[in-house]
Amino acid sequence: MSRAYCCACQLPQVACLCAHVYPQPCPLPVLIIQHPLEAKHAKSTVPLLRLALPDLDIVVAEQLSAPKILATGQWWLLYPDAHALDLDTLAQDAKAWQHTRATIGGLIILDGTWRKTRLLLHLNPWLRHLPTLSFSQAPSSGYAIRKGPGGQALSTLESVAHVLQHLAPGFCAAPLHDLLAARVAQFKTRAPSSACSDQPRRKS
Ligand SMILES: [Zn+2]
Repeated sequence: MSRAYCCACQLPQVACLCAHVYPQPCPLPVLIIQHPLEAKHAKSTVPLLRLALPDLDIVVAEQLSAPKILATGQWWLLYPDAHALDLDTLAQDAKAWQHTRATIGGLIILDGTWRKTRLLLHLNPWLRHLPTLSFSQAPSSGYAIRKGPGGQALSTLESVAHVLQHLAPGFCAAPLHDLLAARVAQFKTRAPSSACSDQPRRKS
């Protein structure tokens, strides 16, 4: 028997989250490049991001040429490499942060395990030409159903919420966190033994 899906949130009807979705405009252009294996993962948070920020761009690919939108302004990559600007540290200096923030015209976020995001970087060398952003003081993850061994890695949804809060002062992250909490509650109700059983997540 085929599984029934909600036509609004596209999730299985038994997991419909429509009652918890409060969409808002994405405050700056964001492109998520999702590794194809991550797209098949039942606990991916990207479907929730798609509901909460409908104008977010999502591409599922392991290898792609540099998107044309890169020509529209200064795009940054959220990735903690050795040169990355730590936005939590920068934000403590209001003037310096205001200046840096003004240079961020768009953000690319890689979605997958650490291993897969490293692979995305390797297979898409154009990504390595982008300036990089990272963060160091994100709140601990509330995504109790999928954590890395140290429990410190944030889900992609939480990473996006944290970064957008810094980059766009008017942005409200609460609807994203509430949606994630509703998803976690669903998983806990339906499969309590599955908590914390997955592979480590990408952390930015
Ligand atoms: Zn629904």
